Formats: sequence, C-alpha cells, structure tokens
Amino acid sequence: MLRVSQPPVLRNDTFEKLLTNSFVKNEEHLVKNVWKKADAVCFDMDDTVAVGDSNAEIAEFLGFGDIAKATQTAMNAIHKPLSLDIMDRFDRMRPSRQQLNTFLNQRSLRITSGAKPLIKLLHAQGKEVFLLTSGFYEMAFPVAELLGISRENVFANSLLFDATGQYLGVETSVTKGDVITRLKRENRYENVVMIGDGTNDLMACPPAEAFVGFGGNQVRPNVLAAAKWYVMDFETLQREIEN
Ligand SMILES: [Mg+2]
Repeated sequence: MLRVSQPPVLRNDTFEKLLTNSFVKNEEHLVKNVWKKADAVCFDMDDTVAVGDSNAEIAEFLGFGDIAKATQTAMNAIHKPLSLDIMDRFDRMRPSRQQLNTFLNQRSLRITSGAKPLIKLLHAQGKEVFLLTSGFYEMAFPVAELLGISRENVFANSLLFDATGQYLGVETSVTKGDVITRLKRENRYENVVMIGDGTNDLMACPPAEAFVGFGGNQVRPNVLAAAKWYVMDFETLQREIEN
C-alpha cells in the first residue's frame, strides 16, 4: 500500500528562527549553486524519501520497542560508528528470514510527498540519482522502484541468513561518505549533492560537494543547525531547478 505523507506543521517558531538566524545559512546560495549544476544526487531513505525509519519498524515488529526508540534517536547524533550500532542491535534481535518476509508483507510503505516528481525531474535533466541508506536492501528496493531509481543505484546494508533462514549477521562496512567517494572515482562526478535528515547524511559532505538537510519528516536540531541549506519539503528543491 502506498500512502503519501502530508508535510509536518512547524510546532513553534524555533525552527524558523534557526533557519533564518544561523550564520551558516549565509552560505545557502553556495549549496543552491551546486544543486543547480549537480551531476549526481544521493538521497537518504528513512525519513527522507520514505516516511519512518525502516530499521526501527523492524525492531518494533520483532517486539524490541527499546531498540526501535534507540534507532530513531541515533540519527540525531553519532557517538560511535553507525554500522557498529546497527550490528549490535540486530545481533540482539536476530531476525530470521521468515520474520523479515512477514514484516515486508505487512509493511505499509509511505513515500514522502514531492519525492517522486523531484526525482522524475532530476532524471529528465540527465542527473544520476542514488539511494543511500542505513536500512537494508530488502526495504530499499521497493522504495527505489516506486521512485524510479534503478537497483544498481541503491546502496544499503545486508542481512545475512544461513541456508535454513536463521540470522547470521549484518554486513554493513561502508559509510555514505565511502559510497560517494567511490561513485565520484568511478563516474568522475564533479558535483554530488547529498540530501537527508540525519547526522550520517550531514557527515557525507565532504566527500559530497553539498549537503541539503531535509526536515519534511523529522527535524534533527543538530542537522538543522549545521546544514547550510535546510528544506522542509521537496517542492522547494524542485523550484530551484525548474527555471
Ligand atoms: Mg534518514
């Protein structure tokens, strides 16, 4: 089932104050310039092009409410490598292949409003679009398909199972920055833009030439404060490249 989210309403004027007062916002035009001439655009999945956090949803499904909560707050600040965090959590939950399949079958996938037309426009302008996620391939492929992103442009983590479907572990060794470094080396991209809600997205710039903070689903105060350009919806990004 596909549901399209409504943009959140700003609860108070704190975000707007941060948006307008922070000195880093004086460099917003620099990010916009890179955005206009980008040859590759990397989107985060959870709470960026898709509503909700897929790893937290699995944890909730498996009955680990505490892990679901910790997963959601991990994107606010990173105290240790995110890959280790994810491995620790899944080593505790140890989902089987069958549990994962049941989760995928009952999952209600929600694409963020405005993501699909923006990606369509980027493709029409000849830009390469990637999906970079700390979630798993099983969750990322359906999102990519709905957004018209090809499978080879999806970079995610892998859940490993044995022949009987029992949990073996998690394969998550690269950061989003590592992926972007590789994409730039292999494709000679000169202007890569990373768009996301989380600290790990922010940390991918550099090597990305520019980062756009996205607050359409979740506003992370540290990302809001650090991002030179922060948007609350995809329509804002679309307007900048339509003309
Ligand atoms: Mg995210």
